[in-house]
Amino acid sequence: MMSILDTCQQEAKKAGAAKVSKIHLQIGERSGVVVDSLKFVFDMATQDTMAEGAELEIDLIPFEGECSHCQRRFHASEGFLVCDQCGNYAKLISGQELNIKSIEVED
Ligand SMILES: [Zn+2]
Repeated sequence: MMSILDTCQQEAKKAGAAKVSKIHLQIGERSGVVVDSLKFVFDMATQDTMAEGAELEIDLIPFEGECSHCQRRFHASEGFLVCDQCGNYAKLISGQELNIKSIEVED
């Protein structure tokens, strides 16, 4: 979370902005991030920074696999990447993201 905040502030400074008004994140279901605690940490971490009071918007990215055998794409709810159609192992497509999608700044 701190590195996200650092990146946001660097981007805002680069843009010549005085304040970060909104941060839009993409977080995978299996990234290990708990959204509720992230929001809490965000509020704490942004105190007395450019991002104080900024809105935090989060897109949750589903944990998905693609089967190596039948190419079926599926949502892996249990954390196991095993195809629910043919039982073969699948590769991870998405779900471990922790990205900054966009940042809105104010002058
Ligand atoms: Zn399959």
